[in-house]
Amino acid sequence: MKLVKLIANLGYGSRKDVALMFREGRITDPDGEVLYADDKVPHEHIRVDDEPLDPPMGLALIMNKPLGATCSRKDPGRVVYDLLPPRYRMRDPALSTVGRLDRDTSGLLLFTDDGALLHRIISPRAQVTKVYEAVLAQDLRGDEAALFASGSMMLEAEKEPLAPAQLEVIEPRRARLAITEGRYHQVRRMFAAVGNHVEALHRVSVGGLTLGDLPAGQWRALSADEVAQIF
Ligand code: URA
Repeated sequence: MKLVKLIANLGYGSRKDVALMFREGRITDPDGEVLYADDKVPHEHIRVDDEPLDPPMGLALIMNKPLGATCSRKDPGRVVYDLLPPRYRMRDPALSTVGRLDRDTSGLLLFTDDGALLHRIISPRAQVTKVYEAVLAQDLRGDEAALFASGSMMLEAEKEPLAPAQLEVIEPRRARLAITEGRYHQVRRMFAAVGNHVEALHRVSVGGLTLGDLPAGQWRALSADEVAQIF
């Protein structure tokens, strides 16, 4: 791929903008030698205004999603994409969230521009386990874990029963729920179906990936080894 297209696709501007950046000598190698739009240079040797070029396509990010941000691109309110560098919103192929978390859910959220990876993670066949910690309005009754694990629990207006899910009670009103599906508002609806109400919800892990010490609202790129830990 020509450098001008590569850099434009990374969100630095239109091809016209990037062509101008070349003419202005803003695109260089690590020694400050000016590069030209047709040059063939390894990604890691390209600098824009002396800064390393953003990561190439095939990017995967982990974010500790804060409360109050939506996973939509169009929402007029605060969206998770606002927490990424503005250039990341302009990448082609686009960076998108891997599934969604509700506005009022916090925790582990993934992004990728790799369509195959996205589908591998969200495919029901992949059975990637997502663990949520829920704070509940009522004490748990005691029969929820068996029902959630049964594989025969039905949610309202759905035709297929839920796949077995594991509930670990931490306190009478606090529990961890491990699910392998990603149905609409699934965790809130599961607790609603047993007469409870989720007051706070936080995603703790996706597959073998956890947030570690990533603070709320922060994100970082995942290494290939970390992506492999999802499966
Ligand atoms: N289940 C929900 O109900 N909400 C989320 O955000 C994620 C899972």
